[in-house]
Amino acid sequence: MKDKVKRRNFFKKASAFGLLPIFGSGIAVSAKPSMGQLQSVQSESDLKITKIEFIRLIGSSGNRSIYVTAETEGGTKGMYGPIDDDAMILADKLMVKKVIGRNALEHEAIWNDLFDGDRHSRGSHYLMGMSTIDNLLWDLKGQIFGQPVYKILGGSRKQVQVYGSCLGFSQEPDKMQAKARELKAEGYTHQKWFLNQTSPEDGPAVMAENVEKVRLLREALGDDADLMIDALFNWNLPYATSWAKQVEKYNLRWFEEPVPAANLDAFIELSRETSVPIASGEHFYGRWDVQKFLKEDAIRVVQADPEWCGGISELVKICAIASVHGAQVIPHGHSIHAAMHVVASQSPDVCPLVEYLINKMNGDYYDFEKNPPRPVNGKLTLPDRPGFGIELDPEKISKREVITWHEL
Ligand SMILES: [Mg+2]
Repeated sequence: MKDKVKRRNFFKKASAFGLLPIFGSGIAVSAKPSMGQLQSVQSESDLKITKIEFIRLIGSSGNRSIYVTAETEGGTKGMYGPIDDDAMILADKLMVKKVIGRNALEHEAIWNDLFDGDRHSRGSHYLMGMSTIDNLLWDLKGQIFGQPVYKILGGSRKQVQVYGSCLGFSQEPDKMQAKARELKAEGYTHQKWFLNQTSPEDGPAVMAENVEKVRLLREALGDDADLMIDALFNWNLPYATSWAKQVEKYNLRWFEEPVPAANLDAFIELSRETSVPIASGEHFYGRWDVQKFLKEDAIRVVQADPEWCGGISELVKICAIASVHGAQVIPHGHSIHAAMHVVASQSPDVCPLVEYLINKMNGDYYDFEKNPPRPVNGKLTLPDRPGFGIELDPEKISKREVITWHEL
């Protein structure tokens, strides 16, 4: 009897808070979700994905981007982008047909079905396509529950620290030092610079310059800033080892992609030879690539990209693997919506930073969006809008067309 009363009271309270449909068998259909309220769950049929489209947006200057959109039977709409052409082609040609008709909340099951359903699924472009689908489903899930993705992932961090990626800035000594100081004053207390224009064939004079650039950057930044260097996989093991030993005294936070990511043995050897932490991962596809490097202590920083590695679902698993190995995950930032939500959802011990490619992100990359992610004083604030919080700005769109893979 006591139990029955308790049970009745529970259902009364649950009903008052809109929880009842979650637990009851009579499922209510929610109106369009709004923030700050508990949402009722939609019925099975309302959650059915009925449409996935790829939309090309064209601006007045001819700039263009592709976004992917989805819709459910119940009318919930999701969106992700901008996405790469390659990702769009694979997702559209090989995956969309397998996702239409599925329940929008089944992203894990859909991921497994897509991965198990193609003998080439370990490949880079296939996983880029899967990343597109997975991230789209995460936005859809956010729209269904009326919550930002990072909260659905369990996170509580409302801001994340960025590191400024300084690709494209002058490397003439005076200009480079001035830019490093200027960026630090803007809040970029963590900066990554690139030595990608050089190769071992350039000889000892260029090696000396590559060492000197690190000295100049450390001098400009002082000791209270984090400095990282990316070789964009242009070097070889002897060159990278020699350079790393010479710059150990400048306290680099990491040295990134000295050689191509396919060369695991070189990463293992380099990590043994230098005290500079080694980073890689933007060209890792799936958790298995990550595990190969971590179990050999080949890297200390994993830079898997949620638009390439298999999506948010995969990056979260990668974070778990990295945490077991005591490594950090600092996602590659060729794009930032998915990366910042994953980082905000994880412990700062595992995901302390997110990459912000200054020139690209401050350029026209997010031109069609009302609220492009922009750091203030070195920090990105997570949107409180549902999903990724992406909103397109009709004012900036001259033309909008639905495209398919064979049109690219
Ligand atoms: Mg890189």
